[in-house]
Amino acid sequence: MNIRQKLSFSLLLLFGLILSSPREAQAWGQTGHRVVGYIAQSFLNKKAKKHLQKLLKTEDLALCSTWMDEIRSDKRYDHTHDWHWVTIPDSVRYEDAEKNPNGDVIERIEFIVSTLKSGTLSEEQEIEYIKMLVHLVGDLHQPLHVGTGKDRGGNDVKLKWMRRSSNLHRVWDSEMIDDKQLSYTELAHALLLKVNKAQVEKWLQGDVRSWAMECIALRSQVYDIGNPEEVGYDYLYRNWSTVEIQLLKAGIRLAYLLNEIYG
Ligand SMILES: [Zn+2]
Repeated sequence: MNIRQKLSFSLLLLFGLILSSPREAQAWGQTGHRVVGYIAQSFLNKKAKKHLQKLLKTEDLALCSTWMDEIRSDKRYDHTHDWHWVTIPDSVRYEDAEKNPNGDVIERIEFIVSTLKSGTLSEEQEIEYIKMLVHLVGDLHQPLHVGTGKDRGGNDVKLKWMRRSSNLHRVWDSEMIDDKQLSYTELAHALLLKVNKAQVEKWLQGDVRSWAMECIALRSQVYDIGNPEEVGYDYLYRNWSTVEIQLLKAGIRLAYLLNEIYG
């Protein structure tokens, strides 16, 4: 092989590697997280909106919602890896479940909310905490981020989604949402048209722990995949309204927490 051939061969190899490397599940993919942030942004009260704008400058809640996934490649943030999810086995309460010593999504949201309320953080820390809160409240509403402890939040449930290899976790993170081919603003606008006041008031009852229990209540529906070789339109049809509701709830509850902290 001459140099040119060698070069194109290694480029081909590299390209193949990129295509075949498994991407770790990121929860609600980018679109889902941005939808949650966008919805929250539209429910902020004046005071909270002003304070967040001052801190986040050129970003809003939608744009900063994926920061916690972006820092996964930064070693300084290795300690945050387990904060995206929680394990609560069937018929167990969070209080009685074995806790991950590295932290979990419930423990972190509770910690971040109370720390932000205390007002003791430097500006730099406060910005990081806000970005984490935006992301984690989203994650808490992806039903498979409250895992059974048996299958890594559905990552081990291998299946064919629209004839392509995938897994149940990824179906909920991004496959169903991406199938709609809407931008995050388009999807968020469509969801906001469905909001009614009585429902919002109902969704704001409870707390972080009861919100997690709602994910557990969805388990039988989420795991009802039928033939794993043929998961697609039928599953999407049966579950899309749940995806919509979970995204809406996450956005509205995130705004509620931020309004409570800063309002
Ligand atoms: Zn996440």
